[in-house]
Amino acid sequence: MYKCEDCGALFDSPKLEMSRVADYWGFPASEPWGVCPECGSSEFDIANQCPMCGEYYMVNRRNCCDQCLTTISEAFQDTINELAKDWSCNTDEIKEALYGLVERDEI
Ligand SMILES: [Zn+2]
Ligand SMILES: [Zn+2]
Repeated sequence: MYKCEDCGALFDSPKLEMSRVADYWGFPASEPWGVCPECGSSEFDIANQCPMCGEYYMVNRRNCCDQCLTTISEAFQDTINELAKDWSCNTDEIKEALYGLVERDEI
């Protein structure tokens, strides 16, 4: 699935258009080039379905959409801040511990 960055349209495959490239060393050249079927923009990218909310999002080495990521990060940030206050320690130390748990698949 692809998602257009300009109009937000979702599509299975980009529409191919022949761009008119000027003569290339005397030979007429044209190259097929993919565009959004809705608005014709070339600003589109591969999109994945978010496992949490089902929205399609651009794949940028992330595993869920921006909204879910923000929700998760806010929830963790609040908890981390509270714990750091309770223990009067640095939030980095809690993040380190949390990271270790995630890495070892313990949470
Ligand atoms: Zn578009
Ligand atoms: Zn989501």
